Amino acid sequence: MKVSYLSLSEHRCTIQFYGCNFRCKACFAPNNGTYTEITPERLAARLKQFDVEEVMLAGGEPTLYKEELLAFIKLCGTKTILSTNGFLLDSEFIRGMEDASLDEVHIDLKAYSPEVHERYTGHSNQRVLNAIKLLNASELSFEVITVFIPDIIDNDEIERIAKFLAGIDDNIKYRIIRYVPVGRVSRRPTEEEIKGAVSIAKEYLSNVISSLDVRIHPLKSIRLRV
Ligand code: SF4
Repeated sequence: MKVSYLSLSEHRCTIQFYGCNFRCKACFAPNNGTYTEITPERLAARLKQFDVEEVMLAGGEPTLYKEELLAFIKLCGTKTILSTNGFLLDSEFIRGMEDASLDEVHIDLKAYSPEVHERYTGHSNQRVLNAIKLLNASELSFEVITVFIPDIIDNDEIERIAKFLAGIDDNIKYRIIRYVPVGRVSRRPTEEEIKGAVSIAKEYLSNVISSLDVRIHPLKSIRLRV
């Protein structure tokens, strides 16, 4: 499997897998041909050199490397979270993650409206919507995440997503992330806009938070080669 780099903070090591099947307009992941090819065994051994409480599998898109990813999760021995765009999550892979005792899945639902999702990512969201239903029926703990991007994915889309999730289970965890500008795609949303989006989602869901409440990414981290 291909890994761009490791990001190490006080409690967490994030593994940034290389490559992605989406082409999001505001992608932050490096796509410059720089990566290390590594086996699950070697990656697990490298991780053991750090004293961290949890490992985040991120990217890029980690599920491009399904079999190796499952092998790594089994070897890891530390709380492990998968961050994914959800497109490649099917029943078989979800069963594999259950067997590997993955601790948590963070699945992005970038937009509910098919045309908005396609315009933003280059792909249909049908498989992502289905993956959320499969996760809800599985034993895995998961949360759904949307990045609030002014004028692209904002209140209307948040409301559609919240309605969709509530139609599955109104206890699904939902997190709204404040967009950090990449290129000139959009501007940084205000705190008031994020709070407004959270209020809208809370009309449908009982478990909504935002990046104003809890940070996913640490303030300080160091980048290491694998
Ligand atoms: S899913 Fe993530 S890594 Fe992939 S293109 Fe979109 S923002 Fe980039």
